[in-house]
Amino acid sequence: MYYPVARPRRLRSSANMRRLVRENHLRVDDLIYPFFITGGRDVQQPVESMPGVYRFSTDRLLIQLKEVQSLGIPGILLFGIPDSKDAVGSGAYDANGIIQQAVRAIKDKFPELLVITDVCLCEYTDHGHCGIVHEGKVLNDPTLELLARTAVSHAQSGADIIAPSDMMDGRVRAIREALDEHGYADVPIMSYSVKYASAFYGPFREAADSAPQFGDRKTYQMDPPNLREALREVEQDITEGADMVIVKPAMAYMDVIAAVRENFDGPLAAYNVSGEYSMIKAAARLGWIDEQKTTMELLTGLKRAGADIIITYHAPDVVRWLKEDG
Ligand SMILES: [Zn+2]
Repeated sequence: MYYPVARPRRLRSSANMRRLVRENHLRVDDLIYPFFITGGRDVQQPVESMPGVYRFSTDRLLIQLKEVQSLGIPGILLFGIPDSKDAVGSGAYDANGIIQQAVRAIKDKFPELLVITDVCLCEYTDHGHCGIVHEGKVLNDPTLELLARTAVSHAQSGADIIAPSDMMDGRVRAIREALDEHGYADVPIMSYSVKYASAFYGPFREAADSAPQFGDRKTYQMDPPNLREALREVEQDITEGADMVIVKPAMAYMDVIAAVRENFDGPLAAYNVSGEYSMIKAAARLGWIDEQKTTMELLTGLKRAGADIIITYHAPDVVRWLKEDG
């Protein structure tokens, strides 16, 4: 008769036994909750492809943030939807732009809440690209100055962390220098260092009204099959002054998260993007999966892969589920 020498099942025998030997945990401290802000007053428009996600006017957002604060979520990430767009995205660096006004209002009411601002031009340009366009090409170097101006205007409004998502080369250094020159040496940069040209952004583009009007973003966002390139992007951003790095999207890129974790000691965020959120919501609505269990399994998987921080639209639900589970 054969008896196993090792019996891993011994440590799975009860809920408390499993708790005792659990290796990774999702915590409220890990979460960042993204929001879409629009102009006007008393606006709360549902994003059809992202159930539970809305575009809020600033006054309505402030009401939401009371709940965010009471749930203990440490930070929010803001995306702006301006009233008007132009070729050079001037709404992005307007001192009275949608984000600048919103940040001032939020920091006035919720000084402790970490306000992270997305820095990019695509929500503000009429062509929907993340940089200045000339003869059908997205120009790198002339875009850097506008990104730096945007970052400084966010810091001037009170943003706690600047998050550039444009994927132009050299933008972290351009933003770091501009922040330092304007007296914001203490404002950290959380760079979207590894951002793939992904199909998982579909619902976000509806939410932020930021789909490119011609072509695609493949000349600046990363090619999905590449992994080693991600490590070069991270190294470059760290050298240029990034304090934290983001891998986006998360679910299809857990190997990338793990590889970045191996090579980089600083804080690493995974962006659980709109398409990942919407897939869970849609399947749960059809009754095909359990929303709570699949969401918790997926997000804990991001922690196991090596992420410290998770940017997710599920954030408030996660906190409620964590509290229920005691
Ligand atoms: Zn962009």
